[in-house]
Order: sequence, then structure tokens, then C-alpha cells
Amino acid sequence: MIEWHKGRAAPWGVKTFRIRLQNSFYGCDFHAILADMSLRIDGLLLQREDGVRLLGPLDLSLAPGERLGLVGESGSGKSLLVQALFGVLPPGVIHSGGSLSAFGIPLDVPGPRRDAVRGARLAWVPQEPRQALSPLLPLAAHLTLLPGLHRDESPRVALARLAPLLSRLGLPADSAFLDRFPHQLSGGQRQRLCLAMALSCDPDLLILDEPTTALDPLAQRAFLDLVLDLQRERGLGFLWITHDLALASLACDRLLVLYGGSPLEAGPASELLSTPRHPYTARLVEAARRQPSLESGFLPAPEDRPAGCPYGPRCAFRQDSCATWGPWRDHPEAGLRCEHPLQIPN
Ligand code: SF4
Repeated sequence: MIEWHKGRAAPWGVKTFRIRLQNSFYGCDFHAILADMSLRIDGLLLQREDGVRLLGPLDLSLAPGERLGLVGESGSGKSLLVQALFGVLPPGVIHSGGSLSAFGIPLDVPGPRRDAVRGARLAWVPQEPRQALSPLLPLAAHLTLLPGLHRDESPRVALARLAPLLSRLGLPADSAFLDRFPHQLSGGQRQRLCLAMALSCDPDLLILDEPTTALDPLAQRAFLDLVLDLQRERGLGFLWITHDLALASLACDRLLVLYGGSPLEAGPASELLSTPRHPYTARLVEAARRQPSLESGFLPAPEDRPAGCPYGPRCAFRQDSCATWGPWRDHPEAGLRCEHPLQIPN
């Protein structure tokens, strides 16, 4: 059920009310809920200029305050989705179909409404802070960039407003620290700086693109705990993109599994990880538990993917009937695409 409630105003923010998703939305009026989605992706299709499909068709929706994980191995198309959301697709990649919107505002239609959303209500925490931060700019310039653009705040006002946030993130707010450059920080500090930048305009939705990949295990866990605390305190929603199933199980309440640019299974994280129905999800769970597998092969390059089920060449459960890959089964938010799903034990 969806219910409005008075959110705890973060000391650095001004939000008073948040819409909060309670439980999941099974059994609710799904179409009514879609109108209120933080993020909605309908039939997104990304291709190379030579027509080779890279991602999609992909449908995805995220309710306010929801924690969705997008999981899959490298090359599954996860980061391309982020690049499409923020309009920074690599050269040679074309958005050839479908639509993207955040808070009801199309992200694929240029204009001031879209520009007011990106970086403000919809914010991105990148995978590799070294590439996201300018080595030529001090930390203060990084932190005041988005507030200057979206709130017309002076650096002095922005830094005063952000001081409690920096303290919450374990970063000093004094000038001795803010005058430093990114290379003078530890890896964990750089990632927390990127998180502070993403939160600097008090967003409603974070896109976290494998943010802990470059961190050691202790720093990874500290970052995860910090994001979850902030999510609870501020009613933030997030889309956490990761290849790490263990991390996804801790961070997210719902998962979508991608492989070869196609969605294969979706559902509540606890159910999907305890009783996976798709052979690929089951393989991911086995790999996370370091269990041996009958599977062979690897994710083929986009131009070498089979016409039907992309997991077919690796699948230990493949049958002749898999040559025809049927449509998605069950609910859009809790279903799968497989001709021979695994049986759930009674
Ligand atoms: S459709 Fe067939 S080949 Fe593909 S995952 Fe399901 S059982 Fe395996």
C-alpha cells in the first residue's frame, strides 16, 4: 500500500513530506501506482549504429523510497542504462526505442524540465570516483557545482548548508579539507565525496552505479551501511547497480536480473535469492556461494548473441523448445522470461 507520511527532515534538506511505499505493490492498482513512479522505463532499446542490440527492450519502474537492485555480470547492459538516464551514452550507441522518465518528466526530451531533474531530484553516484572527479578542482568546487546550477546558491551558502551532510558522511567541512584536491583523499573518502555531491541538492532518487567496486571490503560495508542509513532517514529511493549478489541482497528489497542486455527475472530480493526460478539467477546464487556448476561458456559479445534466449548457450536446462523464447511471464515486477523455469520445492 502507498501512504503519505511526514518524513524526517534531514538537517541539510528542506523536504517535509515524502511518499513512501509500504510493502510491495502486488494486489494494488498497478496503473494508478505507475503514475507516481520516481523512475519509469518503458521498452527502452539501445543499439549500436550497425543495428546490434545492446540493451532491451527493458521495462522498469521504481516507486518513491523503493530500493531496487539491478544485477548481472559485466556486459549485461547495466551501466548503459545509467548512461541513458543521464544522457551520456558512449559514441556509437543509439537510443533507438522506448522511453525514460523520472517523476513524470521525460528524460529523453531535451529542455529545461529535464535539465532541472538530472543532478537535482535524480542523482548519480559513479562507479569510479577518480574518473568522476576533476584533478584540477578542489573539493569545495566539486561540492558547490550542483547547488550553484540547480539552486543558484553561492559557494559560501552551499558549503554552510552542506556542512551537516559532510559531517554525517564522515568528511571534514573545514577549509583545510575543502581546499584539498581529489588525489589527496583515500578511496573511501573519494567515494563519500561523490555521495555528498549526489546528495548536495537533496535528491529523491539515487542511481548508484557499482559504487563500491573500487573499495576494500571494510570500506564497502561502511559505505553500504551509510547509504542505507541515509535512505531510511531521508526516504530516498535508489537504483543500485551491481554484479555482487551478496551486496544486492543486503541493500535492496527488489531485484531485476539482466543478462546479455535482456531482463531475465525480477522479484522481491529475499524470494529471488532463496528460490530462484530462472537458471541464470540460480547460477548467480551458486556463484555467490562459490558452489560448482554444470554451466560452461561466457557472456558472448553483443554481435554473437543468439536470436532467442541469450543464456541458452550456457544453460544446463536448455531443451529444444527453448529455440522459441517466449514472452515475460507473470507480474512485471515479479516474474521471469524462461521456457523451463526451475521448480520451487514445496
Ligand atoms: S529459456 Fe531455455 S535456455 Fe533459456 S534459460 Fe530458460 S531453460 Fe535455459
